[in-house]
Amino acid sequence: MACALVSRRTSLLAPRHDAPPLVCIAKLSPQNYNHPRDSIGFLGPSRSIACFRPGSPNPIIFHVRESFVRVDHPQAELEIIVSVPFDENTLIARLADRHDCLVVDPGLEPEKILDFLEPRQLEPAAILNTHGHSDHIAGNAALKERWPDAPLVIGHGDEEKLTDPRKNLSAAFGLSLVSPPADQLLREGEPFAAAGFELTVREIPGHSAGHIVLIWEAHPPAVVFGGDVLFAGSIGRTDFPDGSLEALTSGIHTKLFTLPDDTLVLPGHGPVTTIGREKATNPFVGAPAGYQL
Ligand SMILES: [Zn+2]
Repeated sequence: MACALVSRRTSLLAPRHDAPPLVCIAKLSPQNYNHPRDSIGFLGPSRSIACFRPGSPNPIIFHVRESFVRVDHPQAELEIIVSVPFDENTLIARLADRHDCLVVDPGLEPEKILDFLEPRQLEPAAILNTHGHSDHIAGNAALKERWPDAPLVIGHGDEEKLTDPRKNLSAAFGLSLVSPPADQLLREGEPFAAAGFELTVREIPGHSAGHIVLIWEAHPPAVVFGGDVLFAGSIGRTDFPDGSLEALTSGIHTKLFTLPDDTLVLPGHGPVTTIGREKATNPFVGAPAGYQL
């Protein structure tokens, strides 16, 4: 298992391929990383992220040191491509001996995705968006241009964000970022199959009203393509116009915490975690927040 480690002293956000499974995640501090009440900014073109604590003018700087994280799974090849400036995770999922794959949440550095896929002669069977925020859809256009037959798929509730810079939050950064329109819309409970994966769709609003997660349970451990719902030691921000902390908490409890403890959660930002770890330790939705194990 590869995962990321954040050390405030060394300003490090680095995949550790030699790390023991998940242990290093404990060093991720929910107080200073992607906290729902924090604001997150970025510093120019460098691979740096500045997080600001409420009430503090001093940023905490993290440097993204690696762009790729490989996630161990006995049946699937799972890769994470990290894009700046928001440390957003694009997921590439494929089964052994297949040339097609899933691309989940192509971010702001799509050339890195192309540079990964093309030398391996991999073709996206689908481009999936967990939700329509700009850092998760920014690479859609480049992928559709390269592979026009790959369907672009998103939850029905976030369809409008693809083509509305105000709703996808890019306008707030002075950008006018849009995606090609969706080819397919997903709803709660629907199966979705592509590249040999059979996924279950769950709608979990709260961070974004039309947010979905995709769950693969064909082979243990199960895998959640989670977007900005549940992070290692944190949860997605809920201070956007269509946000709801109550809805997010409820969705995590009823639709994710009911999965087996060893389920891998591949989130939209930060390191990989497991359902069991977050149930036991997450300060916002887990046992420390009153969740009954
Ligand atoms: Zn988001």
